[in-house]
Amino acid sequence: MNPREARFSDRVVLITGAASGLGLATARRFAGEGAHLVLVDWAADALDSAVAVISSAGTKVIGIEGDVSKAETAQRAVSAAVEAFGRIDVLFNNAGIDPLTARSLVETTEEQWDSIFGVNLKSFFLFVRETIPVMKANGGGAIVNTASSAGMKASSQEAAYGISKAAVIALTRALARDFSGDGIRTNAICPGFLEAMTSDRRAGVPEEQLRARSAKASQLVPMGREGTYDEVAQAVLFLASDESSYTSGASLLMDGGWIA
Ligand code: NAD
Repeated sequence: MNPREARFSDRVVLITGAASGLGLATARRFAGEGAHLVLVDWAADALDSAVAVISSAGTKVIGIEGDVSKAETAQRAVSAAVEAFGRIDVLFNNAGIDPLTARSLVETTEEQWDSIFGVNLKSFFLFVRETIPVMKANGGGAIVNTASSAGMKASSQEAAYGISKAAVIALTRALARDFSGDGIRTNAICPGFLEAMTSDRRAGVPEEQLRARSAKASQLVPMGREGTYDEVAQAVLFLASDESSYTSGASLLMDGGWIA
């Protein structure tokens, strides 16, 4: 194993929204670098197949099915991690939704507002609240939160989503202030256009419209393309690793130069 592969050897990594997209790409990278994994998602079939694929390569993986916006899910996931591995070194708060019909605030229903904030923000609070005492008991850890470029610059027609991601950036800073002194670093990633829209947004959207989004991204982004999940996953591993030992409270924009 070369030194890079050993960055997460025997470290315990808990990932929310781990059954697809960015969460899954990141889980694969952590597994490739020696970590033990706790994967949380409410999409049971996708979670089962993620656990099967990753564990077949020899990684120890636990799958926890549940709604991340419920305190009970966070408690169950953290308890399972402690029971199986005795510690949590990295928390990757990543689950997120972006309902297509919640456009401007005038077109956003109260139910949509509550579910967007439940998944995109409250779940981060719930998982952090359960995990930090475990990290403190083990002398520290790293938390990485998935925000978005939409939390830095308002995007049209997804107001509640952007507000929830701006709040994730604020939550990241609050955690850095309160817990960096305990050896717990907290940082956020802010991806721009990625290779696929979140699965809830993608559901029911015709292929033609998906291609149009891709073409629009290519025009808007100076690099002329969307980012890949794996490109973002590599940044998550950097922020979770000792290579970023003096970085806490940062929000790393990864948007191909879009909002510069
Ligand atoms: P995705 O839909 O592929 O992955 C999200 C995962 O979270 C899914 O597996 C889904 O089942 C799970 N999930 C959603 N709500 C849940 C809940 N209540 N309980 C448990 N699991 C739940 O989307 P993705 O593109 O991988 O997005 C991951 C993160 O990246 C999200 O926070 C998203 O807002 C953010 N992001 C995505 C993009 C993009 O273009 N795709 C851009 C910027 C930021």
